[in-house]
Amino acid sequence: MVSMQKENALSSLTSLFGTGQVVTNAFQLRTYEMDAGLDRGKPLGVVFPKTTEDIIRLVQWANENNISLIARGAGTGLSGGAVAEHGGVIAAFAGMNRVIEFDEVGRSAVVEPGVVNSVLDELAKAKGLYYPPDPSSGRAATMGGNIAENAGGPHCFKYGVTTNYVTGLQVVLADGSLVQLGGRALDYPEYDFLGVMTGNEGTLGIITQASVRLIRNAPAVQTLLVAFDAIEQAGRAVSAIIAHGLVPATLEFMDQRIMRILEDYTHAGLPVDAEAALIIEVDGFAESLSGQMDEIIADLCRHHARDLRLAQTSEERDQIWYARKSVGGAIARIAPAYYPVDGTVPRSKIAETLKAITEICAALKLSVSFVLHAGDGNVHPHIFIDDPHDHALVERVLEAGRQVMVLCVNEGGSITGEHGVGTEKRSGMSLMYNADELRAMLDVKGVFDPKHLLNPGKIFPAELPTSVVPPAPRGQPASPYAPASAQEVASALQAWCAADPPKTVRIRGNGIESAALPPTDVLLSTLELRGIGAYAPEDLYVTVGAGIRLLDLQRVLAKDRMWLPLVSPWQESTVGGIVATNSNAPLRMRYGYGGVRDLVLAVTVVQPNGRIIRCGRSVVKNVAGYDLTKLFVGSHGTLGVISDITFQVVPMPRARSSLIASLDSLERAISLAPRLLRVCLVASAVLLCHRYDPLDGLAPYTLIYTAEGLKEDAAAEIAEVRGVLAAEGVAVRAECESSGSEIWATWLGAALPAGIVMRVGFAPKDLPGMLGGLAQAIDNASFIADLGNGQLYLRDAKNVQAVQKAVQASGGYAVVLSASPGSYNGPERWGHTPGALDLMRALKARWDPGNLLNPGAFIV
Ligand SMILES: Cc1cc2nc3c(=O)[nH]c(=O)nc-3n(C[C@H](O)[C@H](O)[C@H](O)COP(=O)(O)OP(=O)(O)OC[C@H]3O[C@@H](n4cnc5c(N)ncnc54)[C@H](O)[C@@H]3O)c2cc1C
Repeated sequence: MVSMQKENALSSLTSLFGTGQVVTNAFQLRTYEMDAGLDRGKPLGVVFPKTTEDIIRLVQWANENNISLIARGAGTGLSGGAVAEHGGVIAAFAGMNRVIEFDEVGRSAVVEPGVVNSVLDELAKAKGLYYPPDPSSGRAATMGGNIAENAGGPHCFKYGVTTNYVTGLQVVLADGSLVQLGGRALDYPEYDFLGVMTGNEGTLGIITQASVRLIRNAPAVQTLLVAFDAIEQAGRAVSAIIAHGLVPATLEFMDQRIMRILEDYTHAGLPVDAEAALIIEVDGFAESLSGQMDEIIADLCRHHARDLRLAQTSEERDQIWYARKSVGGAIARIAPAYYPVDGTVPRSKIAETLKAITEICAALKLSVSFVLHAGDGNVHPHIFIDDPHDHALVERVLEAGRQVMVLCVNEGGSITGEHGVGTEKRSGMSLMYNADELRAMLDVKGVFDPKHLLNPGKIFPAELPTSVVPPAPRGQPASPYAPASAQEVASALQAWCAADPPKTVRIRGNGIESAALPPTDVLLSTLELRGIGAYAPEDLYVTVGAGIRLLDLQRVLAKDRMWLPLVSPWQESTVGGIVATNSNAPLRMRYGYGGVRDLVLAVTVVQPNGRIIRCGRSVVKNVAGYDLTKLFVGSHGTLGVISDITFQVVPMPRARSSLIASLDSLERAISLAPRLLRVCLVASAVLLCHRYDPLDGLAPYTLIYTAEGLKEDAAAEIAEVRGVLAAEGVAVRAECESSGSEIWATWLGAALPAGIVMRVGFAPKDLPGMLGGLAQAIDNASFIADLGNGQLYLRDAKNVQAVQKAVQASGGYAVVLSASPGSYNGPERWGHTPGALDLMRALKARWDPGNLLNPGAFIV
């Protein structure tokens, strides 16, 4: 029954929007009672916004009438995210589906939330580009839903998930205000709310526009279908391929039962007599494919693979993928309902996890089949429900889901790798997170949506576990203090916080940046937080203390031919310092590397009140709750002390090559840049240096292009670059093994102690206009323009304010990285006013009300 008050509110809603934009008819509303999961809820109405202004009006109306709002894309979610569990009005985005901007040169797009995933990808492919996150539901699922769920898909093993591709979001907040998070440039100096909003499940804000990064579409691809007589053999083959240092584009697993169902539906020629099969795809330049495939096949054969079928045509490849992506439709033909469970475990645990899940289902008398994003350790048991009205059966199915959650958590994984928590898994959140960790997420919710107007009831368990308050320590440690564990950090912070008056704390690694900050009452050194906690090369992660030097970590990893794709200008940089300041090198442009935010899987953080929280897990796919890990990357130690970090590690590139060429003018460099950016596939740097020539110091402009990865890929790309340069009449002066990032590090390391150095962030397509606009300010300045990422490192700019003003006009920013001591420590250092500054301050006030932690280190 709808109350009179709500009925009045609904009739006022109708008058706010145009004809056909509001549905309140009970019969029509039935379509919106569910998503693709099992939960149901009756909405009061559905609104179809056409513009951001429509959403603002809707949110204002919701506030006035105290009615909750639920955003909805295509309703393909599997965890009840778009279900109106508590009534409320649904905002359905199918009609807001314009691609607002498509930038071929800068390789980015700006889209409305209703754009369907495959529509964007097809548009990109037509231009030789690629949008990698490819959920199997991509033919229907929307970008808004993908971003809100941080969707993954088969190709995420090599290319990463949605959060790795979203650079900016326009969001309507619960109070009706419009906020911009991030934008077209990378690494805005602001808390990474962008990363938290990605995967927020519609509970923190309503996304009305998104900027996403695209990459070059690999020119060639090969797809292999391979059969096994035992599930364990397939699981071990996956581990062997990863341990071998190979990174195929996909490693997808299917068991016999699902293959039979898919084969009946798609006739794709799946090996239905086998116990299991893998779809393995390699991509890159044509020259590298057979070598990649040969190595993989050798691994497969060692693990008893049979019936290797290499797709001979693109139609055959499409057929295999059509089968793999038709799981939902194919099962619907044989069972009235099914429960697609979603969880993640470290990759090496796949075989034993599948065995354990089979046993769970057998004990509960349930029939199950498996599809897996095996390369990511993301398991999807599909449990069949022959009669959805059989409550006892449904209860057994849900019990199996609960046991799978426990299993995944006990294996060090996550209760959900890509489907989200929604209503389905909220009780499981307490399995993964303690009261303090859940409280930290609720603090973020409180900052964004204090009245719980947006998607109420989702993600969080009805009751929080009890928080255990550690006893207050007696006395305070002497400053400087170098704790050796998170517990020691917590005791120190508690003691300093409780002092009268409370003490301000400077967190210091090796002091590269923090030494120049204003003095505080006490100093906390991270240098004793330096051990290697867990290192699992077979699962591609390492956990280390925040005080370890990057250099020392790389030495350990190098023994296994692994590395952490980060480069610092300073030998002394600690990994904690790099993460806290979000210091990225040009190599972040390469897929599979990314920036610091893409490489950090988990962090342990001590909050200013002494609470210790673990954010994230040692798995690449984890969408259980808000991605708080991102918040601590680039927050300059103002939100907590990072005590340890889990990084994703990658195999060392087998080859690396850099071309160095001289250019006589800026105009020539600007006209060349777009042609070079089109070539980038395995590029790890495209740099334009002014007044810095790593060879002999004579050329006014030097171009550096680095490609790295498989030998054949790097060679093929370098050959393409040579072709572009030759066509432009530009001579190559040298080809060397040093990377562009190393050259950048040498320049920056030498530049920083003296004079003013700035980092300017801009959309790559804005480079010509921006350099033109800055001509006067940078006249004689030395700079390195990182063309692939849209970053300009500038030494001795004549007029800092002029640079900042010119860059801000095109949506960029300009940060002063170093200046003479004492200058540029205030807001003027950042050259940017974050759209979310009020939200940043509100979160800072919640977690550090006395502003004790790292005062003056950041913009808050
Ligand atoms: C057959 C099948 C296969 C699938 N395969 C995959 C897969 O491979 N990988 C994967 O990750 N997922 C997969 N999914 C799950 C689902 O498709 C994804 O979660 C997808 O991202 C949901 O998109 P949607 O547009 O349908 O969103 P919806 O289901 O409509 O909504 C999902 C969530 O996003 C929120 N939301 C939607 N739009 C907005 C907005 N504009 N602003 C704020 N919040 C918003 C909703 O409130 C809700 O919480 C699959 C689902 C099915 C049915």
